[in-house]
Amino acid sequence: MPQEEKTIIRDERYDAQRIETKWSERWQQDPSLYAAEPNSTKPKYYVLEMLPYPSGALHMGHVRNYSIGDALARYMWMNGYNVLHPMGWDSFGLPAENAAISNNTPPPEWTLKNIANMKAQMKRLGFAYDWSREVTTCLPDYYRWNQWFFIKLYEKGLAYRKKSKVNWCPKCATVLANEQVVSGRCWRHEDTVVEQRELEQWFLRITQYADELLAGLDKLPGWPEKVRTMQRNWIGRSEGALIEFKLDGPAGSAGSKIPVFTTRVDTIYGATSVQLAPEHSIVADMTANNPDLATKVEQLKAEQRKAKESGDIGAIEKHGINTGRYAINPFNGEKIPIWVANYVVTDYGTGALMSVPAHDERDYEFAKKYGIEIRVVILPHPDDPEETVVEPPLPFTTLDGFLVNSGPFSGLDCEKALAAMAVHAEKNNFGKATVTFRLKDWGISRQRYWGTPIPMLYCEKDGIVPVPEKDLPVILPENVDITLTGGSPLSRVPGFVNAVCPKCGGPARRETDTMDTFVDSSWYFYRYTDARNDNAPFDSKTVDYWFPIDQYIGGVEHAILHLIYSRFWTKVMRDMGMVHNNEPAERLFTQGMIIKNGAKMSKSLGNVVSPDDMVQRYGADSARMYTLFATSPDSELDWQDSGIEGIQRFLSRVYRYVARNADREINVQSGSLGPEARQIQRKLHQTIQRVSDDFQGRWHFNTSIAAIMELVNELYAVEDKVASVPSSLLAEVQRDLALLLAPFAPYMANELWEMLGKKGSLLRAPWPKFDPALAKEDEIEIPVQVNGKLRGLIRVPAEASKDTIRDCALADEKIKSVIAGKEVKNIIIVPGRLVNIVVK
Ligand SMILES: [Zn+2]
Ligand SMILES: [Zn+2]
Repeated sequence: MPQEEKTIIRDERYDAQRIETKWSERWQQDPSLYAAEPNSTKPKYYVLEMLPYPSGALHMGHVRNYSIGDALARYMWMNGYNVLHPMGWDSFGLPAENAAISNNTPPPEWTLKNIANMKAQMKRLGFAYDWSREVTTCLPDYYRWNQWFFIKLYEKGLAYRKKSKVNWCPKCATVLANEQVVSGRCWRHEDTVVEQRELEQWFLRITQYADELLAGLDKLPGWPEKVRTMQRNWIGRSEGALIEFKLDGPAGSAGSKIPVFTTRVDTIYGATSVQLAPEHSIVADMTANNPDLATKVEQLKAEQRKAKESGDIGAIEKHGINTGRYAINPFNGEKIPIWVANYVVTDYGTGALMSVPAHDERDYEFAKKYGIEIRVVILPHPDDPEETVVEPPLPFTTLDGFLVNSGPFSGLDCEKALAAMAVHAEKNNFGKATVTFRLKDWGISRQRYWGTPIPMLYCEKDGIVPVPEKDLPVILPENVDITLTGGSPLSRVPGFVNAVCPKCGGPARRETDTMDTFVDSSWYFYRYTDARNDNAPFDSKTVDYWFPIDQYIGGVEHAILHLIYSRFWTKVMRDMGMVHNNEPAERLFTQGMIIKNGAKMSKSLGNVVSPDDMVQRYGADSARMYTLFATSPDSELDWQDSGIEGIQRFLSRVYRYVARNADREINVQSGSLGPEARQIQRKLHQTIQRVSDDFQGRWHFNTSIAAIMELVNELYAVEDKVASVPSSLLAEVQRDLALLLAPFAPYMANELWEMLGKKGSLLRAPWPKFDPALAKEDEIEIPVQVNGKLRGLIRVPAEASKDTIRDCALADEKIKSVIAGKEVKNIIIVPGRLVNIVVK
């Protein structure tokens, strides 16, 4: 029996503001608290959350993203890793210019103010970032390396300039990359149809890496399958053959060759027309002296434009015109009519296709509509070789067949014919096997002010001349008049535009476009490893230590743009010898969105939950923990105020318990534990096991936190019998409770740590270990009688319910055989003691 208890009386009221302000101040006084260790012999762990755009204030989606990363970083620190956990600002971009126009604040001022505000928010939320490595992409110490890279890419032929049709958003007043056009509309302006304009633009040759970007996806098992699928589709590789048809009759300025890409060259003997896009250059030749055809083609162009604007060119109602001209099929010399069709586009493939109605869905539909010949050249293999082959229902589109009516290739299986016919085309100089990609080169020119100046000069004598490396950075001038019309604002700054040619010393004009901001985010995570380096983007040895990123965390909306560009950038840097990893990140996690009242949070819906508000009302710990607890991190989270209140109540219970029991000394031998003590011990080890498992596996932090809640319930359940729990166990369970809470509610955990009299940093305190033997439910043996006579023994958990005991008894093989064929009249159960089955 306990002889006496000693307890220190503490204020049991959980005051989140008091606790969090106190720790916040202490942490700020120790800037090296979250710093990665230089020259460490510990295993490294690089955990990274995507850097935000400094819009002015964090939203709850940020809080969720960073709470996941922060929990992981803290867990890895406690597991003895050298952790790199940096943060920065993706701070170039259009919103700063819009704000400049509407508030008359210069973009740099607006941006830096927002950064200061958001950084303060992050600190108040307690995120464990190493601010000594902060990267701000709009500052010259960062963007100068964008310029440096650009020149390197230019020297390697990976950056080039060409005139091209570009996507133009009239609201952004700038060019958009293909990736920034969503269903024909601007990615920022869902209501704005993207126009086509012809401009001189800078491109990065990402297509040179298309094959590798695609193949690499198979070697990223730590990336979500949905992201890999999106990238595969975006790269859009298809194997086929490029075949040149010839224009019959006189040729115009576009010449007489009509290259056609097909994935089914095996069906070419069934081609009964060639279909050209209205924008095809040969069509322009044909319409030059044919006003009637010109009018009709204009009509097709208009239909096509409209379909593009509505977002789905594939859904267009198909129209075409027979031009009266013919193309010659190089395989059999046959003349087939040339049509112009509104569903054929120039920006995909060659802008020309061969139409094989018998073996293609779309061609079949078109041929039926216009009465074009349908010629069968593929037949299915008969089930029985003796059987005569019957013509299949059309269109017959599978590769599972063989060729007929196909000259020397008749009789070949489709798969064999694909190869043989491509070889034949190549031998005879009218085609070859080829691979096409949907992926296009990355257009990076933006006619905007707030971005990295492209470090190029134009000299009358020398043409395009890169800015010499020693003259970098090309500084973005301040006090520039920004309007969203009339092209690049920098072109109206004479002091910027007028330069000296480094080659001839004569006058030169500076490039006035700036870089797409996705350049900034393509390599920023390398800079974190060596953020203050003035001589290079980073030190390669340092990058070798930290890369690849062990865990990258961010929104799935970046699956294509940011994540393809940064994979491309990594491969380019690898080929430059700067890095040795093939991919930037080993594992990627995409968290779910936060919604409220069934909709995405937005100002217009009035359903925005502000992190500042939540911190003020409930505390940072509650806000963070709620975003982790409400659902699993990959699922959509439907915000409930009652949910965060529940978390606050839970933290309050934790606090009260430790306030009452932190210093309790109980004089109980710890040799053999009584039932209450054993219950606590078992629950503790089970909880450590569950939380540790969740960190290893799928990060179901909601179940981790639920487990900690159960542990606390257990502590409360036996609190009135706490006098029978040995001091050592009571101290152990409270210490481990602080450790288990540390990744999710760091303020509370640190406060508990201090209340428990612990010295040293909680951040580096070892993660608790569990003992599987102690976690196991105790089992007991219960005798089973049949009609009062002992017939067997069953083993059940100590706390097994009556139902469990009954089921166990009836499932026991011995008992089953004893009662077989008899009628069970009654089962008497004395829990923990006895089962008696009454049969007749
Ligand atoms: Zn736009
Ligand atoms: Zn010159």
